[in-house]
Amino acid sequence: MTAGTGPYDAIVVGGGHNGLVCAAYLARAGLRVVVLERRGDVGGALAESEPAPGYRAPALAHTVGRLHGRVVRDLRLSDHRLTLIRPEVRVFAPQPDGRSITLWGDPTRTAGDLRALSRKDAEAYPGFDRKVRALASFMAHVQAATPPDLKKLSVADALGGVRLVRAFRRLGSKAGREILRVLPMAVADFVGEAFEIEAVRGALAARGVQYAAMGPWSAGTTAVLLSDSAGNDGGAAGQAVFVQGGPKALADVLLMAARGSGAEVETAAEVASVTTQGGRVTGVALTSGRELTAPIVVSGIDPKRTLLRLVDPVELGPTLGWRASNIRTPGVVAKVNLALERLPRFSSEGGGEPRRLAGRILIAPGIDYLERAFDASKYGRVSEEPYLEVTIPTIADPSERAPQGGHVMSVLVQWAPYHLREGDWDAEREGLGDLVVKTLETYAPGLSDLVVGREVITPLDLEREYGLTEGHPLHGEPGLDQFFAWRPLLGLARYRMPVRGLYLCGSGAHPGGGVTGGPGAGAAREVLLDRKAKR
Ligand SMILES: Cc1cc2nc3c(=O)[nH]c(=O)nc-3n(C[C@H](O)[C@H](O)[C@H](O)COP(=O)(O)OP(=O)(O)OC[C@H]3O[C@@H](n4cnc5c(N)ncnc54)[C@H](O)[C@@H]3O)c2cc1C
Repeated sequence: MTAGTGPYDAIVVGGGHNGLVCAAYLARAGLRVVVLERRGDVGGALAESEPAPGYRAPALAHTVGRLHGRVVRDLRLSDHRLTLIRPEVRVFAPQPDGRSITLWGDPTRTAGDLRALSRKDAEAYPGFDRKVRALASFMAHVQAATPPDLKKLSVADALGGVRLVRAFRRLGSKAGREILRVLPMAVADFVGEAFEIEAVRGALAARGVQYAAMGPWSAGTTAVLLSDSAGNDGGAAGQAVFVQGGPKALADVLLMAARGSGAEVETAAEVASVTTQGGRVTGVALTSGRELTAPIVVSGIDPKRTLLRLVDPVELGPTLGWRASNIRTPGVVAKVNLALERLPRFSSEGGGEPRRLAGRILIAPGIDYLERAFDASKYGRVSEEPYLEVTIPTIADPSERAPQGGHVMSVLVQWAPYHLREGDWDAEREGLGDLVVKTLETYAPGLSDLVVGREVITPLDLEREYGLTEGHPLHGEPGLDQFFAWRPLLGLARYRMPVRGLYLCGSGAHPGGGVTGGPGAGAAREVLLDRKAKR
């Protein structure tokens, strides 16, 4: 796909979902926009792969429950045939002792199931779910706001602040105090205050460490959990939403929405640098040597890569160069995709019922298990007992993704550190695949005999293939030091970069990673505000 020759009002670097969302908003506002994507296909982390002939698996991301409703409505994604599938089960967490935890979309049903394990935890669950929903509703306001300019507060910042204060007041004084107390907390403490059973604590706390180089005892992991439930129906269980046809179908819909709004999209077009003159953006140069001009460049690739690789270091200056190099991107996530001859059977209670396996299956039997798995990564190793988030999307969506009777299994593996203490990822790739299958085999005996194809994607592959610095799935660690006004850096959280005309629109910008469309929509909003202010 090759675009026209311009001139353009704006160039979007990277055709990940956020780049496409941003381009669609800008084109709808009448700007002449082109998206330049390095790979042969758009979608970034919404890519698809073929672990065996006839099988199609989500290469990287598998669930999309965090997609902002506003983006879906504004860009009329349903008109482009976006169909979301929401199984009634959210989480199935098999335990080594043969028991299991099932978290349903309906908290009363979950509480009913928990009764067999612990009366106390069953009674605590509905209240905990209400608390998570209330606190996450405030986080949704935080995510929708543009962080203030702390150096020079504007009228817009003041109005944004008032809106946040109002949302905070609406929480009521009890929940208001509670959110201030819990945000910096370790998720192990957050769930430990409500629940007594390790299995329940592990299943609930896992979202607080998802994609992060943090364990459940790390400060700030409660904020990660609450952010995951912000603006969606996640509650305590979290969401489990799939795109019919796979995540790639969402990328296709966003491509149609961007093109339908008038944006041009070019693939196999790698941007080598952002061109500038007198401290202002003038366009981009491609690795092919071609140059495109535009007064606005919006980067959907990660902030570290944007600032350190695309921008002239002289333009950036030594201080900002140093600060950018300190943006934390410690990738610890790998992906294993399995093609299965038929549906596996988990040996724990309920593990033979396909409806219980239709959401997220968690190998996270307790806080200690998670913390130990994380510990290994601090010393550059992968734990012998890793934390796995597994989905079998072919249960809820059998549409053409495996041969008759077959299934695909999509496995997120933590913690697999980008920087290994010994060896390298090219040598360790198959060992990681073996470890994942061995771990699953203990919970689903016979699984290894069902595997007809396997694909292992290491953090190094994420960097090489998908352009993610150190393989970080979220373009930057979701710690408190890189949250809201600090994402990606204090003073640069408002999408605008220090070179005039350069903006960020990817997951490394506020409100962060996940398949949300939030950074893409937020960046477009600020670009359009700046254009309006100039007129
Ligand atoms: C293994 C894995 C599993 C995940 N699972 C989930 C999940 O289940 N649910 C969820 O919500 N989130 C998940 N995430 C996180 C989520 O997918 C990402 O945060 C999000 O999709 C990133 O979208 P993006 O548009 O910001 O960036 P990306 O998807 O990273 O897109 C950036 C694009 O820029 C392109 N690019 C890079 N360099 C250049 C260049 N120089 N010139 C032109 N183009 C360039 C890349 O090829 C890419 O297409 C997962 C991430 C990973 C890695």
